[in-house]
Amino acid sequence: MPTNPPLSEADLARLGSRRQRPPPVPAYLPTGPNSPLTVNKGLYSKIQSAPRVLEQSFTLPIRSGKAWTAAAGSIIRISTPKGPQVGDLNIWSQHNPSERFWASRTRQLHSTHLSTHDRLWSCLPYMRPLLTIISDSLSWYGSDSNGGRVHDLLGTRCDPYINHLLSGGQSYDYHCHSNLVRAVREFGLEERDVHDVINLFQVTGLDEKGKYCMSPCPAKEGDSIEFLAETDVLMALSTCPGGDLSLWGFGADSEKEMEKCCRPLKVEVFRLEDGGLLEWEGSEVAGYKGNHGLGAVSKNEA
Ligand SMILES: [Zn+2]
Repeated sequence: MPTNPPLSEADLARLGSRRQRPPPVPAYLPTGPNSPLTVNKGLYSKIQSAPRVLEQSFTLPIRSGKAWTAAAGSIIRISTPKGPQVGDLNIWSQHNPSERFWASRTRQLHSTHLSTHDRLWSCLPYMRPLLTIISDSLSWYGSDSNGGRVHDLLGTRCDPYINHLLSGGQSYDYHCHSNLVRAVREFGLEERDVHDVINLFQVTGLDEKGKYCMSPCPAKEGDSIEFLAETDVLMALSTCPGGDLSLWGFGADSEKEMEKCCRPLKVEVFRLEDGGLLEWEGSEVAGYKGNHGLGAVSKNEA
């Protein structure tokens, strides 16, 4: 094992000054009551508890994927009907799939793990909320003794390419990436449209060296997370072949073993009985109309 060289006196001095830094404040805070980061919690709670009508419902079998659409103002509920199971979720604007969920910006705007009243934002050049979380039965989980939190935005989907690399050349076709690839074909999309996910019901964190770690899913039968669609959306979900992540690993033996902890997920889409409640802020793309300095002589070049 290579070891790091001992720290020089100069390094130690720099380390000392680093330790004296005051705790930073979060980089992205709401700038006022009308900030798009400030959710009208009263309104969203009212929407969440209002009478609703079921429009779509399906159960996603283990190790599979499915895509569906939901109109603006719909409530999408994803639940664990048989107990713990991780689900990898992708989201697009229904009418323009170039606009899709941007996991890293969402992480900056909210947190490494999402819960009630956090929003799922779209990529550039759009930059608007696609969904807002309106309920989360695991919101109590907080930070566990390993620093783990639930509904992960730190990581991404499992895929056959990294599995092939790490398992010494084995192939497996039912990773979340592949499940999502198969799911989106029905809507005319393809592999390149599959993007970084939110790992629903998944507990992750960073260890003391900053390395990504996963812990078993804490969901029980009937746990759920609910989203309000801020615009017309296309969504796709994979039931992760890692199941509840209590037996995860790489390679064919692991895939067989992990099947013991795989369970289905349920998806329901509702509309509100009283559509009048939906006079909410809505979702509009960001108003930047510049052209990135193209087509005009910049001050530096003049
Ligand atoms: Zn997966």
